[in-house]
Amino acid sequence: MLNPFRNLSIRRKLIAILLLTNGIVLALVSAAFVVNEAADFRVEVREELAALAEILGNNASAAVAFNDHASAAETLSALRAKPEIRAALVTLKDGSVMASYLAHGASLTRLPFAVVAGGKVRVDDGKLAKLLRASGSPFAVNLDFYGVSPIILDGQQLGTVIIQSDNRQFVDRLERFFVLVACVLLGALLLVYFLASWLQRLISGPITHLAQVMKAVSTDKSYRLRAKREGDDELGTLIDGFNEMLVQIEERDEKLEAHRDQLEEVVRGRTAELSAANDELGQTVAELRISKEAAEAASLAKSQFLANMSHEIRTPMNGVLGMIGLLLEGGLVGEQLKFAGAAKSSGESLLSIINDILDFSKIEAGRMELELTPLDLHGMVAEVTEILAAGARGKGLELGVYVDKDVPQYLDGDPVRLRQILINLLGNAVKFTPEGEVVLRVSLSEQDAQGAVICFEVADTGIGIKAEDRARIFESFSQADYSTTRTYGGTGLGLAIARQLAELMGGKLGVRSEVGKGSTFWFTARLRRSSVAARAVAARTVAVKAELKVAPSGGSAGRPKSEAQASPSAGQKGEFAAAILVAEDNPINQELVQHILAKLGCSVRIAENGVEAVAAARERLFDLIFMDCQMPIMDGFAASRAIRADEAAEGLAPLPIIALTANALAGDRERCLAAGMDDYLSKPFDREQLSKVLWRWLPSEPSAVVAASDAAGTVAGDAAGDAADVGASAEVSSESAESTTSTTSTTTPAEDQKAVFDRDGLLERLGDAEYLHMFVLKFIETTT
Ligand code: ADP
Repeated sequence: MLNPFRNLSIRRKLIAILLLTNGIVLALVSAAFVVNEAADFRVEVREELAALAEILGNNASAAVAFNDHASAAETLSALRAKPEIRAALVTLKDGSVMASYLAHGASLTRLPFAVVAGGKVRVDDGKLAKLLRASGSPFAVNLDFYGVSPIILDGQQLGTVIIQSDNRQFVDRLERFFVLVACVLLGALLLVYFLASWLQRLISGPITHLAQVMKAVSTDKSYRLRAKREGDDELGTLIDGFNEMLVQIEERDEKLEAHRDQLEEVVRGRTAELSAANDELGQTVAELRISKEAAEAASLAKSQFLANMSHEIRTPMNGVLGMIGLLLEGGLVGEQLKFAGAAKSSGESLLSIINDILDFSKIEAGRMELELTPLDLHGMVAEVTEILAAGARGKGLELGVYVDKDVPQYLDGDPVRLRQILINLLGNAVKFTPEGEVVLRVSLSEQDAQGAVICFEVADTGIGIKAEDRARIFESFSQADYSTTRTYGGTGLGLAIARQLAELMGGKLGVRSEVGKGSTFWFTARLRRSSVAARAVAARTVAVKAELKVAPSGGSAGRPKSEAQASPSAGQKGEFAAAILVAEDNPINQELVQHILAKLGCSVRIAENGVEAVAAARERLFDLIFMDCQMPIMDGFAASRAIRADEAAEGLAPLPIIALTANALAGDRERCLAAGMDDYLSKPFDREQLSKVLWRWLPSEPSAVVAASDAAGTVAGDAAGDAADVGASAEVSSESAESTTSTTSTTTPAEDQKAVFDRDGLLERLGDAEYLHMFVLKFIETTT
C-alpha cells in the first residue's frame, strides 16, 4: 500500500500527508460531536416523555381511582396532537390495561412490552424494564423511546402510564446533523488541500530544483552548474553540500585533465622512443636475418665441406690402402713386407682418425643422424669382440664376453654406431690394460612394448683413471694426462663421440675407475622392438645362402662395416665367374677394383663415365655393375636412372647396380637407392667387402656353389681337428656364443671340445646356422 505512495512526487506526498492527517482529525472530531449530539437528544426526548407520562398520570389518577375507563381514555387521547407518539397505556397495579391510546396502524397486542394472557392484554414489567434500558443508550439509533410514570394518589400507586414514541424525529435530526458535519469536513479538507498545495512549495520547491540541477549535471556533464539556496534549513545545508561536491569534482576534473595532458605528453615521448627502438629492432632483425642467412650458408658450406672432405680424402685413401693391400698380397718379403705392413696400419689409423674427426664435426653440426635398421645384437657382440681379439691376444690379455640370457637377439637400431661405441670402449680397454683381462657384459636394463634399454659394460684390469681426470676424458680432444699421447697415442675424440652417440640412442655413457686397478666403462642404448619372426626368417635365409657360398675370410677391418647383417666372409681366389661392368673415372681405383675382381674370378670391363656405362649396359653382357657416383660427363645417379629406364623400355630384368662412393654422409645411401641402385659400398672398401656384395647380388652359379660348399666342408673338418690349438680369439667366440643361451660363461677349455667336429651338436648349442658358419671361419682364420 505504501509503494504507490512512495513513488509519488514530494509535492503530492506532502499534500496527501496533510489531507490524510487533517481528514482523520476532522472525522474523529465530527464523530465525537455526532455521538455526543445523539446522546444529548435521546436524553432530552426521554426526559420529555417521562414528564409527559407524569402529567398524564396526574391527570388520570382520579379516573383510575374511580375506575373510570372512559375518563382515563379521554386523558390519553390528548396525545393525538403529538404524531410521534405511537401508543400510550394506563395500566393497573396488576399490569392489566385500563385505557390505551394507539396511533394509526398500531395494535395493542403487537406492543413490544405487551403479553396476552387469558384473552386479556397485560404489560410485562420485565420486558418493559429491558426496553427502557436499551433505549437509554446513546447508540440505540433504531429503538423507539419510552416514557413511564406511576399514577400516585395519596401516596399510593394506583397504576402506571406508559408512552411509546417512535424515533423518526431523532433520525431526521441525526441525518441533518450528518449532512452538516459532512459539509464542514469537505470544506475543511478543501481548505487543507489549498493550504497544503501552497505551503508544500516551501519544502518541495528546493528539492525539485536540486533534482533538476542534478539531472542537468549528469546529462550535460557540466560541473559548473550550481543549485540555488533559499533558506537556512536542512535543505539549504543539502544544497550547500551538493554545490561543494560539484566544486570538488570540478577541481578534480581540472587536475585530471592536467594529468592527462601530462600523460599524453609522456606517451607521445614514449611512442617516439618506441618507434625509434622499433626501427632499431627492425634494423637489428634485418641484420640478424642477414647474419642467419650467412650462418646458414656457412653451415651449408661446412656440410658441403664435410662431404667434399670425406670424398676427397677417402678416394686417395682407398687407392693407398688398396694398393698396399695388393702389395702385401703380391709376395713381398723381408723389410719391404714390414714397411708395407706399417704403411697399411698407418693408413688405417689415419683413416680412423679422419673418420673420428668427420663424426665429431657431424655431431657438432647437429647433422649426425642415426639409422633404424634391424640388427642382430648377439651376432654384433661376437663380431666386435672378434675384431678386438687379435689385439688382446697380442698383449696376452684374456677377453671375456657375457651376454645375459634375457637380452633380445633381434632389435632395431643403428648397428654401425653401436659397433663404433663398443669398438672404442673395448679398444681403449685393450690399449690401457697391460695385463689381466678385459670383460664385456651385456645386460637388459629395461623392457617395454616399444623396445629395450640394453646396458653394455666394458671392465678392464688396466691403469685406471684418476678421479680428477674422469670428467675431462669425455671432452673432445682430451686425454687423462698428456703423457697418454706419448705412451698410447690417440686423439682424445673417441669417448666424446661415444658419449654423444649413446645419448643420441637415448642412453648414457659413464665410467667407474680406480687408479692401478682398472676401469669399467658402461653405456646404455634404447633399441626398438623388432619383429622376431621376420628376423628369424631373414637370419635363416642368410644362413642357408652362407652355407652354399662359404669361403675363408680375408681378415677383419679396423672400422665397423656398414652392413648390419652378418654375412659369410668371402674372397677365396676364383670364387666367382661373373662378368662385371665397373663405372669409375679414377685410374688408381679402376686398377684396384679390376685387380680384386679378377682375383675373385670375375671378368671386368671399365667404363670411364656414366655415358660409357649406359652404353655398355645396353649390351647386356654383364651380371652386375659397380657404379661410382661422381664421374665426369654423366654421374652415377644419372647413369643408373638411364639404365633402369632402358630396362623398363625393353622389358628386361634389372641388373644389380652397386654404388661405389666416397660420399659417406647420411642420406647418400637413400640417394643411391632413389636413383635405382640396389646396394651401396663406401670407399675405402677391401676385397672382403667387395666379395660380400658379389655374394649377395650375383645370381647363383653351379660352379661357384660347388666350389664353395666343398670348401666349407673341408674347413669345418680342419677346424675341429685343430681345436686344441685355440687362442684368445677362439675362446672369445666360443664364450659369447655360449652366453646367448646361458646367463654367463667362462672360457671354454680346449679339452672340453669333442675330438671329432660335431656340426649338429654345435649348431644346436649356437642356435643359428649363420653364426656357426662365422664361428668356423673365424676359428680357421685365427688358427691357420
Ligand atoms: P683416445 O683413446 O683416442 O685418446 P678417448 O676419448 O677414447 O681418446 O679416450 C680419452 C682418454 O681417456 C684416453 O686418452 C685415456 O687417457 C682415457 N681412457 C679411456 N679409456 C680408458 C681405460 N679403459 N683405462 C684408462 N684410461 C682410459
